[in-house]
Amino acid sequence: QYIMGIETSCDETAVAIVKNGREIIANVVASQIESHKRFGGVVPEIASRHHVEQMTLVIEEAIKQAEMDFSQIDAIAVTEGPGLVGALLIGVNAAKALAFAHNIPLIGVHHIAGHIYANRLVTEMKFPLLSLVVSGGHTELVYMKEHGHFEVIGETRDDAAGEAYDKVARTLNLPYPGGPHIDRLAHEGTPNINLPRAWLEEGSYDFSFSGLKSAVINAVHNAEQRGEVIAPEDLAASFQESVIEVLTKKTLLAVKEYEVKQVLLAGGVAANKGLRTTLEQVFNELEDVELVIPPLSLCTDNAAMIAAAGSILFEKGIKSSMALNANPGLDIAIHN
Ligand code: ATP
Ligand code: MG
Ligand code: FE
Repeated sequence: QYIMGIETSCDETAVAIVKNGREIIANVVASQIESHKRFGGVVPEIASRHHVEQMTLVIEEAIKQAEMDFSQIDAIAVTEGPGLVGALLIGVNAAKALAFAHNIPLIGVHHIAGHIYANRLVTEMKFPLLSLVVSGGHTELVYMKEHGHFEVIGETRDDAAGEAYDKVARTLNLPYPGGPHIDRLAHEGTPNINLPRAWLEEGSYDFSFSGLKSAVINAVHNAEQRGEVIAPEDLAASFQESVIEVLTKKTLLAVKEYEVKQVLLAGGVAANKGLRTTLEQVFNELEDVELVIPPLSLCTDNAAMIAAAGSILFEKGIKSSMALNANPGLDIAIHN
């Protein structure tokens, strides 16, 4: 079974071919970061235009990398949402055209289901499991009792973790996307600045990062007013420590309550070295739970993860109609 995945929800035009939902045959990602950098974030109009320009080239490149023919592809899986509507539409329309032209099933996939299924390209998924999703637009704990079942047990009430990283990076005059720069700086500094941790109500699995973000911005401004400078590496280290502590402790709490067999890390912030190391240390000591962390290239947006998630739907015989539309607010709980 060969599934072609297409992903255009944000600023990566990506196409991949995955065999049996587990094995990557081709994985092409055309990033637009250079075009958005000077605006300090993703500009939707520019993103859509780049997707239009890149789409067919990236599809051809994936087929070439796989040394395959379209007649060998069994289905087209595409990110249906959430994301930027104009960006999603380019991928959805390309997928519809391919599915129609080659008379194969079209499968709409939830972008976050894709991030979670990146882990299936690493190892077999064992249920029940818990996924810690930390990306540019999402921070959530997702409980899965089986394939295709997603229960969000906690989520951010304001900023996503990646969003907080990017905003803090901006305050420190670091380029977009700021996550990797803060990560690098954090390892050069000491976490000696007192910053808040948002635990919220006792037992809550929800997150909140806007207070932390504001505390960082205030610390910089207050120092400026006093004519002082806070070492950016110490600020980065303190910020990162707060984010990691909350993510790790809430995940541990949920692992115990839900008695899961596996914990899957997912989303762009899963590329964070500090987070990866801390989780590895903590889960090393827990005997009955296996921690899975995808390689960096599968943490940030890619289409192999979309094909992997799509293959489960394909096996279940679930497909989308040719009326499939981009859905920027798609809900993961009702999507199977
Ligand atoms: P979503 O998946 O929620 O729709 P998205 O697709 O834009 O959002 P991803 O591509 O999954 O997000 O992740 C991008 C985010 O990951 C950015 O906010 C970026 O700063 C962050 N990120 C990438 N690498 C690191 C890192 N090493 N440390 C922290 N954050 C990182
Ligand atoms: Mg991106
Ligand atoms: Fe993403």
